This record gives sequence, C-alpha cells and structure tokens, in this order.
Amino acid sequence: MVGLPHRLELILAQPKNEMVFNFPVRMDNGDFRLFRGYRVQHNNVLGPYKGGIRFHPDVELDHLKSLAAIMTMKSALVQLPFGGAKGGVQVDARQLSKDELMRLTRRFTSAIMTNISPVHDIPAPDVGSNAQIMAWMADTYMNLNGLESRFEGLGVVTGKPIEFGGSAGREKATGQGLLFVLEELLPGMDLNLSDLTVSLIGYGNVGSWTGRLLARKGATVRAVMDHTGAIFNDEGLDAEALAEYVVGHGGVAGCPCGKPIDEDDFYALEVDLFIPAALEQMIDADKAKLLNCKVVVEAANAPTTPGGESVLLERKIAILPAILCNAGGVTVSYFEWKQNRQAETWDEYTVDQNLRSMMAGAAARVLEAAHRYDCSLRTAAYAAALEHIWRVYEIRGIFP
Ligand code: NAD
Repeated sequence: MVGLPHRLELILAQPKNEMVFNFPVRMDNGDFRLFRGYRVQHNNVLGPYKGGIRFHPDVELDHLKSLAAIMTMKSALVQLPFGGAKGGVQVDARQLSKDELMRLTRRFTSAIMTNISPVHDIPAPDVGSNAQIMAWMADTYMNLNGLESRFEGLGVVTGKPIEFGGSAGREKATGQGLLFVLEELLPGMDLNLSDLTVSLIGYGNVGSWTGRLLARKGATVRAVMDHTGAIFNDEGLDAEALAEYVVGHGGVAGCPCGKPIDEDDFYALEVDLFIPAALEQMIDADKAKLLNCKVVVEAANAPTTPGGESVLLERKIAILPAILCNAGGVTVSYFEWKQNRQAETWDEYTVDQNLRSMMAGAAARVLEAAHRYDCSLRTAAYAAALEHIWRVYEIRGIFP
C-alpha cells in the first residue's frame, strides 16, 4: 500500500541476527539445570537495537522474531533513535527462588554480553521480568566490563530501579502512554475518559497501571481477568486495592473488591473499552464474537489474531493498535537511556510532559496516515512506521 521498494521488503522480512544460548544454572539443591535463552535483533537502521527480555515457559525463537519486528515498527512510529529486538529465557520464573533467578539472570547476561551494549543493543523488562532483573543485568555487564566503560555500562538496559539509574515514571510508563493516546483519540470517537467503563485482561505492569490511571481519571473498571481467574464489580473495582492484592497474592482471583465471573461472561460484559494487557493472540474470532465493547485498546503486543480482527472490524468495533497504544514503555526507556548517557536525573513531571508530547505526535501520525490511505488505524500505524524507516534507508543507502 505504501509502495515500499522490494529491497526493503526483503530486509524487513527477516531479523538481522537470531541468537540461541544454552547455559547451565546451579539450583539451590545443588543440581544443575540447562536453560535456553534467545536474543533476536530485527533492525537497527534507526539506532541501537531495543526490546524486552521475557521470562516465560512458552518463549521460543519464532515468537521472539515477530515481537522483535514489532519493536522495529514501534520505535519507528514514535520516531525514537532505536531499532527493534526481543529476547528471553524459556523459564517459569515463579518456580525459582530469588537466588536461582539471580544466578540465571547473571549467567544469561554473560552469555549475551558481547551482543549487547549501550550503543548496540539495549534490553528492557517484559513479561515475567522486572526492575530487579534489569538491575542484575546491568550489574553483571558493568562488572564484566573494563573499568573505563563501567559508568557507560549503566545504559545497557532500561527499566532499572530508580536508585540504580532508572527513570522516574518508567514503571507506569506503558499505562501512562496509553492514557495520553486515549486523550488524543477518544474525543474523535465521542467517548470521554471520565465516564468510561472498562474491562482489562492482565493486571501486571501494563494492566494494573492502565487500570489505576484510568480510574484516577474517573473511569469505572468493571472487570479484570488474569491467569488466576476473572473478577467483576458493577460499581467498579477498586483499581488501587486490586493492584496491591495482586502483588500480595500473585493474581486477581479471590480479591474481595469483586465477585468471580466465568471467562465467557467476562468477555461478553458491556463496556466502552476492552483492554487486553496480558499475552499475545488472546482475542481470536470466537472471543471477538463475544465482545460487547465500542473499542478494543491493544495494551499488550499483538493481542488480536487476524481472525479476531476481521470479526471486530465486521462488527464495527474500533481497534487502537498496539504499536501506538503501548509505545509509552519504550519511549520512557529512551528517556532513561538518555539520562544515563548524559548523567542527568529528570523528575516525573518532566518525563510525563515529554512522554505526552511523543505519544501525541505518534497518534497524530496514525490519524494522518489513516486519512491519507483511507485505512484502519492498525494499517495506518504500520504505514507511518514503514514510511519513516524507508526515508532513513533512502538517506543512508544500503551498505556497501
Ligand atoms: P506482566 O508479566 O507484568 O503481566 C502479565 C499479565 O498477564 C499478568 O497479569 C498475568 O496474570 C497475565 N496473564 C498471563 N497469562 C494469562 C492468561 N493465560 N490469561 C489471562 N491473563 C494472563 O507483563 P507486562 O509487562 O504487563 O506485559 C503485558 C503485555 O504488554 C505483553 O504483551 C508485553 O509484551 C506488553 N508490553 C509491556 C511493556 C512494559 O513496559 N512492561 C511495554 C510494551 C508492551
């Protein structure tokens, strides 16, 4: 549709680098287990590779290849000076002790060590990983580097704890960015943030911050589902209490702020916004037929299958695409990296103001492309991203 030259189709259809690492870790009982980890570097024409590290039993190469490609598009849409990557370890981190998790993280970091750096490839948290894991990664990298480059090493990962080079506002960044996108797009859909009803799948980092920030704006969070079950409250779940409950209990099931609801009823609940914020490909054609919402807001990466998307579009349910909605995370990661490289510390207000302006710019580019090509917002988001990548390839040329 955008008329991309064939040479760029060829380049973007495959990641530049795909790496697989098998590495041993000593368990607390003295036994050793072999783990498999990956790093996929999709494209770096715009800048260093950038993308999360996932700790999950289903992590495998093809899955990470698609997520790395999505990162390339996301960075391009927001016009960040980053390319796209993704990595992970096939592990159920919840089954490991804290010491085992630390040894696994450090050993994996040493395995990928020569393939990451603050100017080459910068990992971040994703499903199953968090600020503590990023701190262990940065510490391992800094210890294994020579004295000269120790300080620069801090910028090798983003999403670190604030006390150790992290940025104000990074933890809530993906939810905050989504809120800024909604502020830009909802008025055009005759919806008002302060009297919205919402359902969420996932109440981890992205889901719980999205729920809390929407509730603080006056929205009613009617239901939440995660891997432990689904709960519902017609008057609105207490989004803050639910976030605390999940930290203490590992999931939403049993939270006294709501009543249990079965999965199909959860999907069929009437709401303005249905927000998937858990894993990929959860809204297939069958689930899309159940939905009773005006807009699907993709907070997770690729939460809608192609079949699900056809059903939603047929049913005139709008979809706000993931590469726009959840780009707040990588954008504040960019701010963190920038602060690390310039030895600066921004306050939360500065982070939020900069984030708002970047998200508003990306939303405007999506609307403009949707108008120009007369296409869905998802197609428009990819078109705007591809056009940016294309311009940069035209300027740089293809080596040699
Ligand atoms: P997380 O690990 O903090 O939370 C994941 C959530 O998904 C949990 O609430 C978990 O219970 C839920 N979940 C897992 N399996 C489920 C199932 N089968 N059914 C229902 N719920 C299930 O992860 P996160 O960081 O919040 O990431 C969520 C999504 O957002 C992922 O697609 C991730 O790639 C994407 N994302 C995250 C960020 C970020 O900054 N963390 C940025 C951009 C995109």
